[in-house]
Amino acid sequence: MSPTHPSPDPTPPTDKPHVATAILSALAEEQHGLIELLHQPRKVRHAGRDFWHGALHGQLVVLAVSGIGKVAAATTTAALIERFGVQRIVFTGVAGGLAEGVQVGDVVVASAFVQHDLDVSPIFPRYQVPHHGKSRFASDDALTALLLQASRDMLAQASEARPFPRARVHQGLVVSGDRFVSGAEESATLRATLEAAGHAALAVEMEGAAVAQVCHDYHVPFASVRTISDRADDSAHVDFTRFVEAVASRYARNIVERFLGLL
Ligand code: SAH
Repeated sequence: MSPTHPSPDPTPPTDKPHVATAILSALAEEQHGLIELLHQPRKVRHAGRDFWHGALHGQLVVLAVSGIGKVAAATTTAALIERFGVQRIVFTGVAGGLAEGVQVGDVVVASAFVQHDLDVSPIFPRYQVPHHGKSRFASDDALTALLLQASRDMLAQASEARPFPRARVHQGLVVSGDRFVSGAEESATLRATLEAAGHAALAVEMEGAAVAQVCHDYHVPFASVRTISDRADDSAHVDFTRFVEAVASRYARNIVERFLGLL
């Protein structure tokens, strides 16, 4: 540096907020309600994505939309950690119900994830992530407990307008893969094959296991909550977008607000 060069600002603007929680969603519709709540929003564009910084319920947050699928989710997660220095990641979105009793309008809080489309057999057992020696990546216990509480409180809130009065909160295994599961037969086979390998899954989506694996590698706590948008059967595609906008984005906003209040 030349002697005439101005000395660096001691507090240069940074993309790395102090202690930030990332709220990650797969679809823009899932995130809409959250951006509206953001205080002093600031948008940073990176790797073809928008990252929204701001304060929500008195906490520093970074909101991001990953896009659909495991690769998109892994890229976004790595960016949140490397570039934006987030200390914890929470995923909110929608999923297809697999287990009996996991119905449209229910909420599933993930305790662990498996990639249902990962198969390096016979070199490694089916579903096992090579060089990690395991198939399941667990969610962070403390964050998961808060998400559970926030989800239960949200559903317990009496509201005449609630579209699913019998909605329940479930906790358990969620499976992810690069496929929108939209057939009754496909979904039954998926469920049975996983169960035979000891993985009884509650719900299927397309991102969570990727986020969990990246967070595991970086030692960043991760938890996830999904509203059930469909039963992964022949009518899974019907009204999907409408459901996300009308129900899931409202659920996500309500759960995230409560979660940040509990944090
Ligand atoms: N109609 C949407 C596509 C959604 S893909 C569009 O046009 O953009 C499905 C998204 O919801 C994924 O992010 C996935 O995580 C989740 N999801 C909901 N139901 C699912 C199912 N039955 N199978 C797989 N993913 C599902």
